[in-house]
Amino acid sequence: MRVLSQVVAEAQSYAGRVTSPYASLQHIEAIARRELLTLTSYDVDLDLARDETTFGSVTTIRFDSRGGSTFLDLKPAALHAVRLDGRPLDVDLLDRGRFPLELPEGHHEVVVEATMPFRRDGEGLHRSVDPADGRPYVYGMNFMDAAPSVYACFDQPDLKAPYTLHVTAPADWVVVGNAPAVEPSDAGGGTSRWDFSPTPPLSTYFVTVVAGPYHLIRDEHDGIPLGLSARLSLAAALDKDAEEILTVTKQSFDELHRLFGIRYPFGDYHQAFVPEFNAGAMENPGCVTFRDPLVFSSRVTRARHIARASTIAHEMAHQWFGDIVTPAWWDDLWLNESFAEYLGNRVTAEVTEFDDVWTDMTYARRQWGLIADQGPSTHPVAGNGAVDASAALQDFDGISYAKGSSILKQLNASMGDQVFFDGVVDHLTRHRFANATMLDLFESWERAGAGELDDFTTNWLRTSGPDTLSLDRRAGVVRRTPPEAHPADRPHTIRAAVGADGTWTDRTLELDSPETPFGDLPEGSAVVLDAYAESWVASVPDRTTVRALVDLLPAVEDDLLRAGIWDNLRSGYHAGALDPADVLDVAVASLPVEDTEDGPRRTLHWLMTTVVPLAGPDASDRVHAAASAKLASVEPGSEHQLAAFRLAVATATDPLALETWAAGTGLPEGVALDVDLRWRALVRLATLGAVDLARLDAELAAEPTGDSRVQHAKARASMPSPEAKAWAWSCFTGETEVANYELEAAGLGLWQGGQEALTEPYVDRYFADLPDTVRVRSGWMLADAAEYFFPATSLDEETLARAQALIADPSLDLSLRRRLADEADRLERLLAVRRAFPR
Ligand SMILES: [Zn+2]
Repeated sequence: MRVLSQVVAEAQSYAGRVTSPYASLQHIEAIARRELLTLTSYDVDLDLARDETTFGSVTTIRFDSRGGSTFLDLKPAALHAVRLDGRPLDVDLLDRGRFPLELPEGHHEVVVEATMPFRRDGEGLHRSVDPADGRPYVYGMNFMDAAPSVYACFDQPDLKAPYTLHVTAPADWVVVGNAPAVEPSDAGGGTSRWDFSPTPPLSTYFVTVVAGPYHLIRDEHDGIPLGLSARLSLAAALDKDAEEILTVTKQSFDELHRLFGIRYPFGDYHQAFVPEFNAGAMENPGCVTFRDPLVFSSRVTRARHIARASTIAHEMAHQWFGDIVTPAWWDDLWLNESFAEYLGNRVTAEVTEFDDVWTDMTYARRQWGLIADQGPSTHPVAGNGAVDASAALQDFDGISYAKGSSILKQLNASMGDQVFFDGVVDHLTRHRFANATMLDLFESWERAGAGELDDFTTNWLRTSGPDTLSLDRRAGVVRRTPPEAHPADRPHTIRAAVGADGTWTDRTLELDSPETPFGDLPEGSAVVLDAYAESWVASVPDRTTVRALVDLLPAVEDDLLRAGIWDNLRSGYHAGALDPADVLDVAVASLPVEDTEDGPRRTLHWLMTTVVPLAGPDASDRVHAAASAKLASVEPGSEHQLAAFRLAVATATDPLALETWAAGTGLPEGVALDVDLRWRALVRLATLGAVDLARLDAELAAEPTGDSRVQHAKARASMPSPEAKAWAWSCFTGETEVANYELEAAGLGLWQGGQEALTEPYVDRYFADLPDTVRVRSGWMLADAAEYFFPATSLDEETLARAQALIADPSLDLSLRRRLADEADRLERLLAVRRAFPR
């Protein structure tokens, strides 16, 4: 799976431990069940043509038992029958999602007939209706522990079996799954039936079906049938993007075949872009699902194309590492993700047109990992023996992706490509269609000649936190400081970039002791440590460097160096070492518009929400002036122009200018109005109180796409009125039901600088209402909503104290506590910056 930077994957909490109707599988239970059973096959028969809220699910599992008791996992709306070896069992035995089985030694067949619920939270079998045309769409997302809400199963990754899927659905639908595409047969009453052939052995969480009146594109490459699909209202956008998507797919197949020397084994390769998907994408063998904003219906900048390409390659890497060989338990999920992240980026950089993907990663994902690694929830990259599925998934964050990928890149550099891939291929061959652990992979590497890896593993994978690098200019040394709470002795090989008199030179440093001599420096020069993000480290620039960057940064043409400079600035700011006014001076001199998408973890968003509020009363105006100046200087039609224009819109205070932009008049040459830009202008107008709800409703009615609906929610929540804030809050408490993307938009719209008088009551209400949100949502959205609705604009010691008090409350759901702790840490750091640099 890939979590885009805009969305933070967080564990399915079920820490509704108290309130959840289901039991989370314990690791010891999984081990016992694995020892008891050997699976032969699953046959899953789904009837999606019944009604809008439920579907029929008949599962037949054939398996051998060594003799003993165990249980099936299932979470049905209604359980109709369970037959073991033809003998009916009492359906009332189902308890908290588990159905007990007494199994004599020998071969068995269990058949379960149930009615299952369609879900609306992006998990299980998700069904949604497209607001653009009223058409319904279904897809399966069984990651972690959602499979039992689709079919009865032994839900753990190391009980693999071949699956034979049958689907009954309206005759005009397209139905695809893990197995190669099939022609449907008439099933009467306007329905058809799709009978797929058996798949290779799969883990329960990989099984999917994507069904609905999807727009379908077919192609073929190297004997592999390829498919793309998206909802009909995105058909034109998918047609426009298909060549780019398919080209990346074909190039990645060729490269992965070259690197592994193992043929892709799952038949067709279908990539389905689906509505309201929580993650970026999910690596279901043969049928990968993606969030459908990755089909571009409005103009986007290169960053978005890079994110899509690297997500495609990431999921393809999983087809080998993750799908052919799967972690035996969730505590090794980091390895799955770190590997796919590293390899996906590498393949994207080396064989696609997006050879600047590493630059993009520095902007988009590095700080995600570094901040997590320096926060209160930091943890080692490598699994720490999570006792149950939910506990393991608490660690599914920027550390598992960005840090893990960075460390595998370092490992690859130290052992060399030949040994690295010899080991990986040995691992994939030895455990083909089965499961393995981190230990197995490291044994494969040692067999391949990697030498002894214990030191590396201990320092990088089993110790939390990054080292901090800083320059002591007077002493002429670079200091390497491990986190106080997590001592380690880690060598780093980095390049430092030294800027003086308008030119830059690189120095390679071997940092194998706490202090390393740096050599002479020109007076007033800028020193950017680890300037090319070659090690996992937080580099803190000194003030001389930051002041020098005001003049130096605008002229930097090396994109990777620019990214490294912003990474240094963000690390320094996070450490509380930099004056916000200094950072703002660098920003207005050289806006980071090359960091082109302004999602929450990107530089522009960070600048606006973290630096600007502490950089003085005219900070936002200065950014607006800089964006306007940038607009006037960049090439019309370029992505930098688009990025600068978006920033100008987001910081504009003149409703008249915004109105002309929203109307499509008075746009800079090279900028064309589309749904995205129109709603950006409308959101800003709403924030300024310059449009009313009736206007927003009319704008939505004129073009009721999924995107418009999300932006409408953001605009509505952003309005400076008590009614608007009350509406946003009702989304958080669940009183108003909205889908996941609109919930996010409402939270991000609610808290606006300058609206403190209106939002003040919701600071208290946040801490009062947060614990009870476990009653209205679960899974991904539970912790995400805690982040989106956190009182981001309340820079106040009292707010921090309230957060800390709630964190200390032992009855708070675990995933809520964890996310709240991260938000409190962010607030605490901002308060420290304000104390250190008062204005
Ligand atoms: Zn992944």
